[in-house]
Amino acid sequence: MTDTTLTAPAASRVISDKYRPSYPDDLGALEQALRGALSGTSDTVAAYEQALAAWFDSRDAVAVSSGGAALSVALYAAGVRPGDDVLLTPSSPLCTVYPIIAAGANPVFVDTRRHGFGADPASVRERIGARARAIIDIPMWGYPTEVDQLKQQAEQAGVRLILDLAHSHGTTLHGKPLSHYGHLSCFSTHERKPLATGEGGFILTDDPELAKHCRDYSRFGNLNGVDFGLNYKLAALPAALGHSRLATLTEQIDRRRSNARRFLQGLRHPKVHEKQIIAGGNPNYYFLNLELGFADNRAFIDYLDERGIPSDIKRYGCKALYQFPALKQYRLDCPNAEALLAGMTTIPVHPAISEQDLDYMASCINLYEAP
Ligand SMILES: *Cc1c(COP(=O)(O)O)cnc(C)c1O
Repeated sequence: MTDTTLTAPAASRVISDKYRPSYPDDLGALEQALRGALSGTSDTVAAYEQALAAWFDSRDAVAVSSGGAALSVALYAAGVRPGDDVLLTPSSPLCTVYPIIAAGANPVFVDTRRHGFGADPASVRERIGARARAIIDIPMWGYPTEVDQLKQQAEQAGVRLILDLAHSHGTTLHGKPLSHYGHLSCFSTHERKPLATGEGGFILTDDPELAKHCRDYSRFGNLNGVDFGLNYKLAALPAALGHSRLATLTEQIDRRRSNARRFLQGLRHPKVHEKQIIAGGNPNYYFLNLELGFADNRAFIDYLDERGIPSDIKRYGCKALYQFPALKQYRLDCPNAEALLAGMTTIPVHPAISEQDLDYMASCINLYEAP
């Protein structure tokens, strides 16, 4: 149909965006866990929580049954109650906003910055009201956001900063894990995330009181009949997997970073650039982000898709959350967030991607001629 089909290689490969390595220590870890108690209050879970806190240099870790559960628990611990406002950027997945609605609170969308997915301070100032209890920042695909500045702004406003770091295990800002900057930091260990236990999640905090609130709430208020709670505990077997696999996380992130470097060395298209990395930040490269400067960016994403190169933008139909039918009552326009999502795509650089795959993806992009 166009010249591009003559010059660029057609689907000669299919690049997988799923990273599912085999972990040789899994069976041993599970076997050992099976000799002990299997509930969420078992020693196996407590040992996993200690290992998480150590890896992320956090005072406390509370393991829970999913990333969504981590958000529900963090919202409760932050004091969010029915009728309260929770500010968040609309460029996150649906997973971040539904727990706010389930808590009976109102999601209040604030815009992102122009160059990245961090909440814009001016938009926060404009939309934060007397009922606000928390701000959630969501660094997408593992690129750091200005969480240091946002924490100051949250503290001045008397609200909690919750970080949804479901993509960002190992992402740093000024040499520290992003979780260092949140009052409460939520992680997912769903199968597709950098640390995978099938389903699972955890919350990190440096504040002992918030940690206690998280632990109590996720355990039915310890059934004391005084404190409220639900059951969001993580079971021992996924905890054993997480604990054992945590040992490989640093090596995995190193590979992602070196894969990203190799891919970027081969990238030469004048209208395709890596998304800006903020000063002092180091992404974990959960997915590499490309900024696109075409009149029709979707045509470019489709072109890559036809060549076996997947995009999270296409897979999830990413758009500002208030553009989905379930959320249109919460619409508050966020032009920067809309422009960011419409002007980008993602590239997989996980450790199972070969050098040939990286070079293939760069060369497909270099050969693209817009229709
Ligand atoms: C995956 C994800 C979640 C939800 O995690 P689950 O473990 O699937 O419940 C929340 N927020 C973001 C940004 C995610 O990517």
